[in-house]
Amino acid sequence: MFIRYKLALLFSLVVAGLLTLFSAVIYQISASYREEEFLGRLENKARTTARYLMDVKEIDNDLLKIIDQNSLTSLFEEQVLVFDEHNRLLYSSLDDQPPQYDPALLAEVREEKRVEQSSAKIDLIALALPSSLKASGSEYVVMASAYDKFGKSKLIYLRNTLMICWVVGVGLTVVVSGLLAGLFLRPIATINTQIQQITAQNLKERLPEGNGRDEMAQLAINFNQMLNRLNLSFEQQKSFVSHASHELRTPLAAMKTDIQSGLEEALSSEEYRLILRDLFQDTQRLIGLTNGLLQLARPLDPVLRRKLISIPELLLDIYAELSSLRKAQKLVFEPILDERRELLVPGDEALLKTLFTNLIDNACKYSPTHEAFIRIGSDASHCLIDIEDKGIGIPPEDQERVFGPFFRANNALIYSGYGIGLAVSQRIVEWHGGSISLRSTLGQGSTFTVRLPLS
Ligand code: ADP
Repeated sequence: MFIRYKLALLFSLVVAGLLTLFSAVIYQISASYREEEFLGRLENKARTTARYLMDVKEIDNDLLKIIDQNSLTSLFEEQVLVFDEHNRLLYSSLDDQPPQYDPALLAEVREEKRVEQSSAKIDLIALALPSSLKASGSEYVVMASAYDKFGKSKLIYLRNTLMICWVVGVGLTVVVSGLLAGLFLRPIATINTQIQQITAQNLKERLPEGNGRDEMAQLAINFNQMLNRLNLSFEQQKSFVSHASHELRTPLAAMKTDIQSGLEEALSSEEYRLILRDLFQDTQRLIGLTNGLLQLARPLDPVLRRKLISIPELLLDIYAELSSLRKAQKLVFEPILDERRELLVPGDEALLKTLFTNLIDNACKYSPTHEAFIRIGSDASHCLIDIEDKGIGIPPEDQERVFGPFFRANNALIYSGYGIGLAVSQRIVEWHGGSISLRSTLGQGSTFTVRLPLS
């Protein structure tokens, strides 16, 4: 079922429930009021008749009947009966019909002193009244009953009015709530239609953001922001693929030319050796590139393989490995004090090794002395690692771009490289919830600072 119909139905049910409750309360209060008021009138009647009969000696039964039947307050189908202490009927206001009463009621009245009864037709009140003439303890019973014709017809009129109001109210609510729900949900329907038209081909399309304040506008704004992010990552992916194919094509084209000349010309063994050496270099480059691409493309699982890594120990390991491999490189550690060894970072050891090896390799590669200066520090929540060199530096306009895949600054082109290392490093740092920043002065050197959250 559509939300629109659900909302309308729910709202109508609530209103119908409330109307039923209010109507029932109003009807009940009116019915009680009618009964109370009519029984009050009956009681007056009963007491007056009893008083005339008992206390006024000049009035006999016949005179009392005439008074009863002709009084202004006489009621519809009225009947007043008075019984003495032996339950003998002393007086009946009806002269042509036999009195109608339930003899069991007499005993109940003598017990309770006052009994009220209301049936669909007749309301009745029966009172046990002490006689002022007789000895104390003897009691008369007076019963007054009548049909509240006007009160009951008013009640029926009220009931019919309430029922008509209920039907009209609920009907109106169904229509109005249906219209209102449609009106409020129309922006969602519009957004839906527009979303259906957005495909990978027209990711630049945006939803109208309305007044920019209500929930619908917020939804459109958030959706547009998501499209911005998707579009950016699509663009990045496209440029990544075109860069990657370009980078792969260069060594492959060189290899093809080498192989062609080897096949087509009769060459000396020395010349074949040269061709093989070129092929070897191009293959090396291809391997380096594909390794870098694999690292960039590999999805980094957000939870798996994290353990606590001591950053000072990790850097000392890298130092030991690099020193034994490449004698030309020189790593200078600012003193790592023993107490700093507990700088523990939750992370993946292999990835962190790749990160720092990339940065240290660059520092040594891009400085004539092949020196990298490493500093480890911390603040309240992060471990801070500086990798500094006194090398060629990075031009200010390129400093933002060096973290993009395949970007190489002009002053670095004479050095070997693929422009992937920093992109991979940044990805690794972000996976660890940290950040990487760069300070560099052209011709003087660069410092890369890695911030990793401590455990
Ligand atoms: P590669 O070093 O293979 O070119 P990287 O992604 O590691 O790729 O670096 C990208 C670019 O950033 C380099 O080509 C170079 O222009 C610049 N760069 C990185 N590190 C340094 C550094 N320590 N000194 C100067 N330039 C650097």
